[in-house]
Amino acid sequence: MNKKYSSKINRIRSFALALIFIGFIVMYGAVFFRNSVILVLLFMGLGLLCIIASTVVYLWIGMLSTRAVKVVCPNCGKHTKMLGRVDICMYCNEPLTLDPSLEGKEFSEDYNKKSKNNQ
Ligand SMILES: [Zn+2]
Repeated sequence: MNKKYSSKINRIRSFALALIFIGFIVMYGAVFFRNSVILVLLFMGLGLLCIIASTVVYLWIGMLSTRAVKVVCPNCGKHTKMLGRVDICMYCNEPLTLDPSLEGKEFSEDYNKKSKNNQ
């Protein structure tokens, strides 16, 4: 098992979650600049932007999920979604591939890049 990688959908999801937290922290930061209306508005605006960006990322995940291929993970037997030629199981982080020629090879994100270049 390779801990360096996690499922693409999971990774985007954690990114969206991080954006929400950053947004709230930035908005909370406005409290420390109560004396300046401009700074408060700036922090509130920035925080709101992060939260809007996070919503956009969540919508993007939804769109990606409809394009993702549903497969049964050979390792944990659960239904997982994969994007591209190679991805990671969302539950057990088992590397998965749709390409039989890549089966058994060490997992690498490069396979996705290579397939893009060939097209
Ligand atoms: Zn699995």
